[in-house]
Amino acid sequence: MSSAFHVEVGDLLTHPGSRRDATVTGVLEARRDMAAVDGPIRANLTLESTPSGVVATGSVAAPIALTCSRCLAPWVAEVEPSFTQVFAVDPVPDTFPIQGTTIDLEPALRDEVLAAVPVNVVHDPDCRGLCGTCGTDLNNGRCDCEESELSSPFAGLKDLFE
Ligand SMILES: [Zn+2]
Ligand SMILES: [Zn+2]
Repeated sequence: MSSAFHVEVGDLLTHPGSRRDATVTGVLEARRDMAAVDGPIRANLTLESTPSGVVATGSVAAPIALTCSRCLAPWVAEVEPSFTQVFAVDPVPDTFPIQGTTIDLEPALRDEVLAAVPVNVVHDPDCRGLCGTCGTDLNNGRCDCEESELSSPFAGLKDLFE
């Protein structure tokens, strides 16, 4: 199975100590909580041959569709995690396998990109969120219930008795 994230490394495996650059672009399917990769990602990597396999270092740029945790507004932000992963002919924990003479960067990229996704993000530090009573987006203006809640901690009770 061919993938944009498969990289042929036979030349490196036969030349320990050698290194070369590799740029990989492709669409990565990944999501975490309310965030998802949105569009193609790009990885600028240096591949270095070691006695046990290949070490890939560099950086990744990935557009992420985010949702404001206060007002639920969607937007897209780019994350740019650095990347260091080890690919081994005989995989041990914390390494990825080399299949024949090919490395599959996809699972490694998914790990790095998802680890860089911010959690509980707000679209603006001053986001006012949604009214917990009526759901109005308070960034667009006030609702009637907000006034009464601010005026008294018992305003919600008062509403029950009106
Ligand atoms: Zn917001
Ligand atoms: Zn309201």
